[in-house]
Order: sequence, then C-alpha cells, then structure tokens
Amino acid sequence: VKWRGKNGFQYYDPSMNSMFHKKLSLENELRRAIEKRQIVLYYQPKIHLDGHCVIGLEALARWHHPELGLVSPLEFIPLAEETGLIHALGEMLLEEACVQMRQWQDAGLNNFSLAINISPQLVEEDAFVSRILTPIRHHQLSEDLFEIEITENLLMRDVESSISKLKELGSHGIKIALDDFGTCYSSLAYLRRFPIHSVKIDKSFVSDISSTSENASIISAIAGIANGFKLDLIAEGVETIPQMHTLQSLGCTKMQGFLFSKPLPAKEMTQVLHNPSLL
Ligand code: C2E
Ligand code: CA
Ligand code: CA
Ligand code: CA
Repeated sequence: VKWRGKNGFQYYDPSMNSMFHKKLSLENELRRAIEKRQIVLYYQPKIHLDGHCVIGLEALARWHHPELGLVSPLEFIPLAEETGLIHALGEMLLEEACVQMRQWQDAGLNNFSLAINISPQLVEEDAFVSRILTPIRHHQLSEDLFEIEITENLLMRDVESSISKLKELGSHGIKIALDDFGTCYSSLAYLRRFPIHSVKIDKSFVSDISSTSENASIISAIAGIANGFKLDLIAEGVETIPQMHTLQSLGCTKMQGFLFSKPLPAKEMTQVLHNPSLL
C-alpha cells in the first residue's frame, strides 16, 4: 500500500500499523485494568543500617494482567503518561495506599513512612495539592507519614508552579524525595530552589560501585551534596553485601534493594512489618 506523503510517495510500513494497533489495544486494556483495579501496589522496605530497622516503604505499581501475568511499571507507566490515563491511575493508587496505611495504623504498625512515586504530569495539574491531601485526610492519616518521590525531569518543566505546590505539600508535613538522583545533569542548580527533603542515589551508580571507583566518587560527591544541603540520603538497588559496605563507608546508611527485600504484596509486607526479623 502507498499513500501520498508531503514529499511525494512513501511506502506504507505494515509493521508500524501493527505497532499502532498493539498500542491502542494496550491502552484500552490499561483503561479497563484501572477500572477493574487489576493494578495494585507492592511495597519495598527502606532500611536503616543501624539495627537494620525498616524506616519506610516505597509503593510500586504492578499490573496483574489476566493473560500476560505480572506487567512491569516500566511498561505501563510510560503508556499511562502518554495517554493521560496516569491521572486516573495515580488517583486509584493513592487511594489504595491510604487504605493500606489505615489498616497498618489500625494494626499498630505506625513507625514508618510510605513513599509514593508521582509522575510529573500529576504535579502539573492545578488540583495537585488537594488531590494528594484529600485521600490522606479522608482516611484520617497524618500527612507526615507520606513522602512523594519525584524525578529530576519534573524540575525542568513548570518550575515556579512546581516549587510552590511542593512547598505547600511540605508545609503540611509531606516529604519530597528526589528520585534517581544524579542521572540528570541539571540536578545541582535545581537543588537550591526546590523544597526537597531527601535524595535517592540511582541504582545505576550502586550496581557497580565495588568494581569501578568512578561510581564510588559519584556517590561520595552526592553524599557531600546531601550533607551540604542538609538532605536525607538513601541508596536504591542495593543487591550485595559489598555494595552495602561500600555505601556505608561513603556515608550512606539508609538503603533499599533486593539484598534486604524485593517489593512485596501487601499481605507479605504486613508479615514483615509484624516480624522484621523475616527480612
Ligand atoms: P523507581 O522509582 O526508580 O523504582 C525503583 C525500581 O528498582 C523498582 O522497579 C524496584 O522494584 C527496583 N528495585 C528495587 N530494588 C532493586 C535491586 O536491588 N536491584 C534492581 N535491579 N532493581 C531494584 P519497578 O517496581 O519495576 O518500577 C520501575 C519504575 O516504574 C520505578 O522506578 C518508577 O519510576 C515507576 N513506577 C513504579 N510504580 C509507580 C507508580 O505508582 N507511579 C509512577 N508514577 N511511577 C511508578
Ligand atoms: Ca521511586
Ligand atoms: Ca529510583
Ligand atoms: Ca527510576
């Protein structure tokens, strides 16, 4: 098949057509999955090396697809962001997180915070602040139990309005973490202006710290920056004991990774919270 493009004849590429249809059907499936609540949160603990206690959890989305099985957020979050479905999805997941937090509070499990990943699109919404606060208050949860993780690419978008919204959340006790820190070159200039409480060292720096000294230098520089800006510091993607020791020697004592625990379904996470020695 051919059609007349701007510059004359172009060949129609059937593989593009099938890609388009695949995406369209995935979009429709995602919409239905949100309605049917097939997307749920798993929880990964954040550990403090002093006593190996759980200081917080990160909520990570998982799609239980009836045919495909467990679909990674790396597949559907970008699709949700492109299609605008991220608003409905984000709202549903925050509600789920609040319901879960309420249950944990009622069970006396109350000495940890919960971090939620937030797409830049959500921050750009006018009603962002109230969309975050409303479900938290509805479930009578204290705002300071919550942290939101944002990525650096947010910082390059609607700067002034993002700053004021994040400040407002901060004034209510919600902590702001900068995720994947160091992967974006603009980081430093923005650190001064954004009301951020902590930075997360990206797992790409952690994965080969024991083998390359360059990554160790980067981490040590990030630790210095966090210290200088009085920010909390946490490393993600810690998989081995040598990585843990190197991070500790570089001044990072809070971490998250498969070494301690994979992200767990709520039920299993509840058992761990009741009995942290399971970790
Ligand atoms: P992220 O926020 O940087 O999350 C860290 C990712 O590293 C998670 O992948 C986690 O399962 C994985 N991870 C944890 N420990 C280790 C480890 O020791 N080694 C390795 N190799 N990986 C580890 P996951 O769950 O597949 O999520 C991928 C990304 O999807 C997240 O990256 C985040 O950007 C996004 N995402 C997940 N859930 C949500 C959500 O509810 N909303 C939004 N907007 N984004 C989400
Ligand atoms: Ca994160
Ligand atoms: Ca990250
Ligand atoms: Ca990431």
